[in-house]
Amino acid sequence: MKGFTTKVLHTRYSKKDVHGALRFPLYDSVAFEFDNATGIQQAFEGKLPAHTYSRISNPTVEDFEARMRTLTDSRGVVAVASGMAAITNVILALCSAGSNIVSSRHLFGNTISLFEKTLGSWGLEVRYADMNDSSSIESKIDEHTRLLYLESITNPQLEVADISIISACAEKAGVPLVLDGTLTTPFLFRSRDYRVAVEVISTTKYISGGATGVGGVIIDNGLFDWNRSPKVAPLAKQYGQFAFLAKLRREVFRNCGSCMAPHHAWMNTLGLETLALRIQQSCDNAMAVARFLAGQVKVKSVNYPGLSTSGSHAVASAQFKGRFGGLVVFLLEDRAQCFRFIDSLEIIRNATNLNDNKSLIIHPASTIFSEYSVEERMDMGIADNMLRLSAGIEDREDLIDDIQKGLENI
Ligand SMILES: *Cc1c(COP(=O)(O)O)cnc(C)c1O
Repeated sequence: MKGFTTKVLHTRYSKKDVHGALRFPLYDSVAFEFDNATGIQQAFEGKLPAHTYSRISNPTVEDFEARMRTLTDSRGVVAVASGMAAITNVILALCSAGSNIVSSRHLFGNTISLFEKTLGSWGLEVRYADMNDSSSIESKIDEHTRLLYLESITNPQLEVADISIISACAEKAGVPLVLDGTLTTPFLFRSRDYRVAVEVISTTKYISGGATGVGGVIIDNGLFDWNRSPKVAPLAKQYGQFAFLAKLRREVFRNCGSCMAPHHAWMNTLGLETLALRIQQSCDNAMAVARFLAGQVKVKSVNYPGLSTSGSHAVASAQFKGRFGGLVVFLLEDRAQCFRFIDSLEIIRNATNLNDNKSLIIHPASTIFSEYSVEERMDMGIADNMLRLSAGIEDREDLIDDIQKGLENI
């Protein structure tokens, strides 16, 4: 079997380009014309595999999807406008009013807000379980549970659950396991091997190749029997193992209008080509930064799954092939000290993105989690003296130097 980067680079286009372009062209076109009325009729009926309108499908987006599908050995991939659009489409395709989903309280902030506020008002219930305890998960599942949901590395708690235990719970209950693999990407974590049914990824982060555009993907690993999902089952007769993809393409994704822009797909393909190189450098930098911080008296504690002091170290080592992601979380004395530290950095930028080529730092309590009360934040594991650093791909010595100077100034 070919390696990761070879696969990305040498996935062939579905049709030969008329000019033989070696890089797939950017088709920034909304509509596609047909030779005759029968042709467009067949395309609309799904009998002719052709593009009609770019909200539904587009050649450049399809090329990016094909590379993601090859990389993940999955049944199919749908590229969408953002990571949040990926999560929203999956929930809308699988759940109805009165459904519940079982998840961890430690989730990306906007995901919690989507589940509780946006979809909560349409009748979705979210039940929180301890993802390290299968009996806690099983006790929350009932006949209205439509999926289990978790993140490969929680942010910013940096917890890593044993995903094979959770997929076993999901299989036992006959519900799909949906995993947000944004922080790991298919380079660090092959979700199919852990029997994850559907993976969602925000391509905005590592895949975009340096924060070039907001985007997301939905990956159907082809492991779940969609006859067992009440909303998708009616399509299973006609589409078989492609029922979930058909539900998205022929209804939810099409109707929500959450398509990825062709330009973003083109940039994502470019980013994908160097993903392995960049992610290795980012993870190695994160490890060096975590080790350095752990040796500093002014730093109260450091959380990084790569450190043996992390409760997630053993599970992460096995699941993520010896690498631990680009995020490092650490505690200083208090919020004021965190702010002084951020303000005195020169190379590490103060921004809310993560897994950019540039190293970024943020104070989560006053930004990403500011819509929650102090009590709610404590419940989510967001301390007021906590900083989150996302290691980029800069030269390691320059990052350490910047952090050292920052600590001297607090
Ligand atoms: C950023 C992020 C998202 C949301 O992605 P967008 O592309 O910003 O919509 C979802 N999950 C995780 C873990 C993220 O880091």
